[in-house]
Amino acid sequence: MYALRAQLTKHKLENHMVELIPSQEAVMQILKRTGAFREGHFVYPSGRHSPHYFQMPLAFRYYDTARVLAVALSRKFRLEKDISSQLPKIAVISPSSGGIPVAFGVRDALNAEQIYWAEQEHGERMFRQYVNQGEVNPCIIVDDIIRSGNAIDETVKLVKSLGARIIGCGAIVRFDSAPDEVEGVPIKSLVDFNARMYESGDNCVDCKHGATPEQVRY
Ligand SMILES: [Zn+2]
Repeated sequence: MYALRAQLTKHKLENHMVELIPSQEAVMQILKRTGAFREGHFVYPSGRHSPHYFQMPLAFRYYDTARVLAVALSRKFRLEKDISSQLPKIAVISPSSGGIPVAFGVRDALNAEQIYWAEQEHGERMFRQYVNQGEVNPCIIVDDIIRSGNAIDETVKLVKSLGARIIGCGAIVRFDSAPDEVEGVPIKSLVDFNARMYESGDNCVDCKHGATPEQVRY
């Protein structure tokens, strides 16, 4: 009887947690409101043109917004048995500086034991912390946005070289052109975004319409 009740409560709790994950539309509204997502006509340093521009740190400058987004992502991780069963002995890993606020928020929400972040050093991705083989718990890699998946791939190599296992991966936004799994684990995201990129102005729809482009940094 008690076991059944506990089971029902747990089931209710899990459903409740899923409901508390905001919809893709709600997340896009947050990103728009904070300026982290803009629509227009943008030119990237690579020369590519795009009608949209993400600058995710703008969403993470507000404590409340940062918390809503990180908690939502953490709930997606918690639903994975391989992750929830190993808590708190897991590490949350950011591939770059952009992912650091997400990693801290997710770590906090999951009460995970460790946090690491990587940086580019002499063209190579390395952990900011000097860590030895065997010191890193099973890992969740989290980033603010996954565009090509290159940063994730490099981080996977780094994590594996330290002998740690990857049990999760996720971001607030994933371009749907990026991979949807890594090392056999699905990549979780709050938004799967259909990114539109033009190699140059020649085939850019907004250039054809004569819209003035804005140069952006990233
Ligand atoms: Zn253009």
